[in-house]
Amino acid sequence: MMTLKLHNTMTKAKVPFEPADPKRVTMYVCGPTVYSRPHIGNARPALVFDVVFRLLRHLFGEEHVVYARNITDIDDKINAASQESGRPISDITKEMADIYRGDMAALGVLPPTHEPHATAHILEIITMIETLISGGNAYEAEGHVLFNVPVFDEYGQLSNRNRDDMIAGARVDVAPYKKDPADFVLWKPSSDDLPGWDSPWGRGRPGWHIECSAMIEKHLGQTIDIHGGGHDLIFPHHENELAQSRCSHDGADLARVWMHNGFLTMDKDKMSKSIGNIVTVHELSQEHAGETIRFAMLSAHYRQPLDWSDDLLAQAKNTLDRLYRTLDNLSDVDIPADAKPSDAFIAALSDDVNTPKAMAEMSALCKAANTATSDDERAHLKGQLTTSGAVLGLLQDDPQSWLKSGGDDDAEIDALVAARVAARGSKDFAESDRIRDELSARGITLEDGAGGTKWRRGC
Ligand code: AMP
Ligand code: ZN
Repeated sequence: MMTLKLHNTMTKAKVPFEPADPKRVTMYVCGPTVYSRPHIGNARPALVFDVVFRLLRHLFGEEHVVYARNITDIDDKINAASQESGRPISDITKEMADIYRGDMAALGVLPPTHEPHATAHILEIITMIETLISGGNAYEAEGHVLFNVPVFDEYGQLSNRNRDDMIAGARVDVAPYKKDPADFVLWKPSSDDLPGWDSPWGRGRPGWHIECSAMIEKHLGQTIDIHGGGHDLIFPHHENELAQSRCSHDGADLARVWMHNGFLTMDKDKMSKSIGNIVTVHELSQEHAGETIRFAMLSAHYRQPLDWSDDLLAQAKNTLDRLYRTLDNLSDVDIPADAKPSDAFIAALSDDVNTPKAMAEMSALCKAANTATSDDERAHLKGQLTTSGAVLGLLQDDPQSWLKSGGDDDAEIDALVAARVAARGSKDFAESDRIRDELSARGITLEDGAGGTKWRRGC
């Protein structure tokens, strides 16, 4: 098996990936906070780690990979959205979680093995907090429970920050009940109008970081193989998850590898709700095929920033059209039963998930297929192209339906194509040429072949 190498944020190096148990490879990715529709920046981690998930399944076997991506359904931003709209919290979180799932499905993102909701893990959260208190890592103060940072020597290791940076970066309140300004909240009190659960520290709700630690332990275990998320989560979120989990597990590592995707930007600014420069997945999906959006996203390496633009989408559409045209031209040969991705393609993805390189390999396969002459060779290349595509979640559509998509006049075009075939049959070439010109003016390309006439949109 080809060795997979992954860049580990913890060591800042690309290292061979060795799961603790190749029969149970575990990955956790921090999922959305469900208070509004996801923007295309939020879709980046979902898409990037969907490719990691698919690659792990390819390398280790589908049944040997366990992937959890949570839903954060308790958060002050959700409370604020509820107060603003007057809608009950559970209505908002249910609606937004459904929208998130639908939007990600439209981009070809596979459902994770587990999708734990924070509010369904309050008992586990309370138990973990109790362990931290009894171990001397956390303390109660005025209805809050805080993690005491100075007790954990290795705090700051993941984000590589010094103490002052950490305090400034976390924008922590220097609340009077804190023993140390860097201490962070595990549990906080809830007033009657806010969601809350009974706990040994009174009615309250969990902090964000402890949710992930508790859900990871419950669904995947103490030490997982891969922990992922956006770059902005390294500090404080992942630093805090790591501190909590290690301190409640006798120092056991939380993750063997930490992976973080770079930001999606627009005109070089990070796309974010607070800046207001967002494009929702829903809006984009109205205008573009999910696969085009997916291709555009994967055209950059996951650790690099990616500047989102109409040009990027247009290029993605062009390349996909070209790949689908090749597959369409291969419709007369069957994919061999033992088809698998090309070695060069898997080698590219095994090099820290180098999707741009893997896509270039797909283009090379496409070129080879266009010039191949023997049917065996064409079938082999078709097999390589479609199975490689599957690892990226691409090229699984029917080529004809892809090439015809983008309009709502299929039936009309089919009728014109049939009329042209009939005109040619009765040798009325003036009429058949007129129909071809009419179709061409509508942006339709015809291809006459042994199996009849095919049409597609675009050239
Ligand atoms: P949020 O809902 O803001 O907590 O974000 C959910 C996920 O999306 C996190 O993993 C963030 O790191 C990620 N994310 C948010 N904005 C961007 C962006 N502009 N580019 C890449 N990832 C992002
Ligand atoms: Zn998390």
